[in-house]
Amino acid sequence: MAVSDEVAISIQNMNKWFGSFHVLRDIDLTVNRGERIVICGPSGSGKSTLIRCINALEEHQKGSIEVDGTLLSSDLKNIDKIRSEVGMCFQHFNLFPHLTILENCTLAPIWVRKTPKKEAVETAMHFLEKVKIPDQADKYPGQLSGGQQQRVAIARSLCMRPRIMLFDEPTSALDPEMIKEVLDTMIELAEEGMTMLCVTHEMGFARQVANRVIFMDQGQIVEQNEPEEFFNNPQSPRTQLFLSQIL
Ligand code: ADP
Ligand code: MG
Repeated sequence: MAVSDEVAISIQNMNKWFGSFHVLRDIDLTVNRGERIVICGPSGSGKSTLIRCINALEEHQKGSIEVDGTLLSSDLKNIDKIRSEVGMCFQHFNLFPHLTILENCTLAPIWVRKTPKKEAVETAMHFLEKVKIPDQADKYPGQLSGGQQQRVAIARSLCMRPRIMLFDEPTSALDPEMIKEVLDTMIELAEEGMTMLCVTHEMGFARQVANRVIFMDQGQIVEQNEPEEFFNNPQSPRTQLFLSQIL
């Protein structure tokens, strides 16, 4: 799995507050194209907020975020451009319950991208095949298992042809037997060279797929390393404590 030296995401000295609460502190992070980064850390450490800042679901107040060379500012054109390159997958799948699986996948391409319907359907079927549920296309989300719904959510993101995928605990709401099918989908994406930032506590996935693991605590990046070193030789006492609790 190749990592290029082209920068996909560049975050410099980024800070964010919720009111007076300083939630992200001096975040510096450069992600090269093709990198697969796992972000872990205790609950409340700011992982989701960091991920959400990258596609402007949350606003940061200080420092800079650049995605594919576009500076994330209050300029709506830039925000649109960044969102069109960044796909996102959440813990709760956020599928539209009243639309079929196929319609969930074609809605944004047709209405946001103005893709002709026939082409949008072909693309959707291509990605539903990729996540191994083309036979569910005409069902509604409520008729699918959690694991299947999450794979639809991934397929739906892919239909927008993102260059970067952000995952925020995509398996933590799933029953254990469904976790593997979602991780397998993510592994396949990684093998195809997708640039990925994944908040997850699936450490087996981190070891297998990540080229870098980042540990966050109290709004800061405390430590980062390649998986082998990260797990076998954590430097910070906070990382050591965290790993001792989850491994
Ligand atoms: P994590 O994903 O690591 O569990 P979050 O990024 O969700 O952490 O949250 C980091 C901190 O910010 C937590 O203390 C949380 O309570 C707080 N927080 C998150 N979202 C908001 C919000 N919209 N308003 C105020 N505080 C928030
Ligand atoms: Mg979170």
